[in-house]
Amino acid sequence: MRKGIHPKYHKITVKCSTCGNTFETGSTQKSIHVDTCSNCHPFYTGKQKFTVIAGRIDKFNKKYGIKEEENK
Ligand SMILES: [Zn+2]
Repeated sequence: MRKGIHPKYHKITVKCSTCGNTFETGSTQKSIHVDTCSNCHPFYTGKQKFTVIAGRIDKFNKKYGIKEEENK
């Protein structure tokens, strides 16, 4: 086995380009920029949005008589 073939794994700061939030993680890269993070991701911030979409789907299903249990 050759020595030194593994890239260095070190602590870096990741910056979110959407909200500017920074957080630390371990990586072989020097720096990481992400488009979204746990601070601004719709999954965390837009829970209400998802509820609205789910409501629309529910209405659509009712309108066309689609029942979720149909695919048995
Ligand atoms: Zn963010």
